[in-house]
Amino acid sequence: MARRDALLRLHKTLLARRTALRKALAGELADLRNFKSDSGDSADVAFDAGSEEIASQLAQLEARELSQIERAIARMKQGTYGLCEHCQTKIPVARLNALPYSTTCVDCQREMEDFPGLADRRGVDWEKVSDTESKMEERDVNLSDIEMDLSANR
Ligand SMILES: [Zn+2]
Repeated sequence: MARRDALLRLHKTLLARRTALRKALAGELADLRNFKSDSGDSADVAFDAGSEEIASQLAQLEARELSQIERAIARMKQGTYGLCEHCQTKIPVARLNALPYSTTCVDCQREMEDFPGLADRRGVDWEKVSDTESKMEERDVNLSDIEMDLSANR
């Protein structure tokens, strides 16, 4: 498959995933609001507190994934999707299929893991970064921002 076709297919995948995540998040945020409004009944308080914790963590994870998807879609619009942010080489389609939110090629990824000092030039806050790839792309997500975004899109 030509690279362009592969990227178009990834674009569709990301858009579908974004729609699904937005729906899931809207549901969880609604659940969280319900927990807060009717947790007055003493018998259910312990159960609700646990469920709220889980719903909150799930929402955090989904919000994080959503922000990575938004970033990938923005890069597609700019025409920079699939290019390594560090050395500008094309990231292989196989890597993008496995990790649609990749922003660096495998070489740069390894280099940054081996020599974290290199990242200083990119202005990244590496204090918060741990050694796994998934965590490297994490950003702090403010749920209330997402919520506003969701209601604006209704
Ligand atoms: Zn690179």
